[in-house]
Amino acid sequence: PTTPAGLRVDRLDIRYGRALPAVRQVCLHVEPGSVAALLGANGAGKSTLLRAVSGTLPLHGGAVTGGTVEVDGRPLDWRDAASTVAAGVVQVPEGRRVFPALSVADNLDAGALGPRSPRGARRRAARDEVYDLFPVLARRRGQPAGTLSGGEQQMLAIGRALMAAPRLLLLDEPSLGLAPRVVQTVAEVIRQINRSGVTVVLVEQNAALALGVADHAHVLDLGRVRLSGAAAQLATSDEVRRLYLGEA
Ligand code: ATP
Repeated sequence: PTTPAGLRVDRLDIRYGRALPAVRQVCLHVEPGSVAALLGANGAGKSTLLRAVSGTLPLHGGAVTGGTVEVDGRPLDWRDAASTVAAGVVQVPEGRRVFPALSVADNLDAGALGPRSPRGARRRAARDEVYDLFPVLARRRGQPAGTLSGGEQQMLAIGRALMAAPRLLLLDEPSLGLAPRVVQTVAEVIRQINRSGVTVVLVEQNAALALGVADHAHVLDLGRVRLSGAAAQLATSDEVRRLYLGEA
């Protein structure tokens, strides 16, 4: 039984080396128990923002040069991934990155190595919860992850993240490269995870998916927040429809 986390990003600046800032003065409030979507073109800074929240920015050579990230009012140290894990923040990386030679079950257990992760019988129960959410993973539990389809590997990557008992789940492009039918499954799964008490921040190129799932959405452009609002409201904005929903 976890409680969903709230996220507050205030005037965040991020750079990679001496390049122009990748994120500039970004402010973002995500209410506990809600789903927030980050939209924007390639290079807008969406992944960079997620990395600052998940503590993986140093792995990519980035640095926070100003501003703050808080989970439930407590500041995160962007240099210290352990502080984000302790706060219950877990990221599903872009591109899935499951361990192809390990079985589905072992991939799930690999997600349960953190300090908040369940052990023993509770770990088995956590695995069963993932199998309830993704019956296809239960059927393939003994199979090497590399033999799964792209959609199944995405389910596994999400399931593995759930094994760490997140309070705030960060999803980077979960629909990338998936067939339309599978995209619908991903949307439904995100809703279910959210209903189970997990705050979700979703980065998506597929604006229709994101706006259909999210409570609030934020459009990034060249590292800045350009538009913010209720997802249903942004879905009717001319700019969003033209630029992100492919409408004339
Ligand atoms: P995408 O959908 O392409 O991932 P994005 O909105 O997530 O787009 P970011 O990947 O966050 O955008 O990129 C924001 C800016 O930071 C871009 O100018 C990009 O070139 C730069 N950038 C991203 N990662 C790195 C890195 N590891 N080193 C240097 N620059 C980077």
